[in-house]
Amino acid sequence: MSIETLTAAVRNIPDFPIKGIQFKDITTLFQSPSHLRELSDILYERYKKKGITKVVGIESRGFFMGPQLAVRLNAGFVPIRKPGKLPYKVIEEKYTKEYGEDTIQIHEDALTKEDVVLIHDDLLATGGTMVAAHKLVKKMEVKKIYINFLIELEALHGRSLFPDEVELDTILRFE
Ligand code: 5GP
Repeated sequence: MSIETLTAAVRNIPDFPIKGIQFKDITTLFQSPSHLRELSDILYERYKKKGITKVVGIESRGFFMGPQLAVRLNAGFVPIRKPGKLPYKVIEEKYTKEYGEDTIQIHEDALTKEDVVLIHDDLLATGGTMVAAHKLVKKMEVKKIYINFLIELEALHGRSLFPDEVELDTILRFE
């Protein structure tokens, strides 16, 4: 199956959740068994030789593909969540969104210095969420960090927030 076919399966929803936003709905991609399998295979092929030991998924759409990729890579899965959701001791990172501040958290013992980490989320827009997630994982002094998104909205230039040495990969791209 081609990247174009996968891209065409993403549904565009105008004015969601607020007026002026063109929301990329990934549920239409996931509901097709053949598309879902293809996406899973692409992710697996990209990361199978990187020695990934933990896939870190960002709440909440990073929880769709993250765990199944972890299983295929023989890695563990670790959630990054919004405040008040994780039950044990956490470390956190604050970041600025369009309207106000947001915080993300991770369990303080979820990653070790031996871990090779793949941080995964569904979509790269402005990049604010992933910059915060990257900082959070970096604080834990892991061995190496890879970043992956299913979708990149290129017009928002989120990628430019990351230094060149960061290995950031996306599968489907919209202008
Ligand atoms: P950013 O921080 O890069 O501006 O926004 C990315 C975050 O917002 C991701 O966690 C993603 O799930 C969510 N997001 C923003 N826009 C969209 C969209 O159009 N479609 C989907 N599926 N998620 C979005």
